[in-house]
Amino acid sequence: MKKAPQEKSMQGYQGSHSHDSRNNKQKVIDRLAKKGGLRALVDAKCCDCAYDELVTGTWRKQVENCFSVDCPLFSARPKFGGA
Ligand code: SF4
Repeated sequence: MKKAPQEKSMQGYQGSHSHDSRNNKQKVIDRLAKKGGLRALVDAKCCDCAYDELVTGTWRKQVENCFSVDCPLFSARPKFGGA
């Protein structure tokens, strides 16, 4: 059975902020994506979207505070205390 694109390995996933010099945010995204599976992909995407390492709070807390209710990933975004 052919895998959906989201289920393929995330090795090499660069998010929407590709830079030659890898910053801390990209390292966090890479670490999340390497876990594999859809949960990891959503976590990595939301981190890429919402995390600002210059703002107070972990990537997860910042994503939890996302209020983009129209985003298709909104109900699946990572939150404290559960997936
Ligand atoms: S749920 Fe929020 S943080 Fe996640 S991708 Fe959508 S807008 Fe970005």
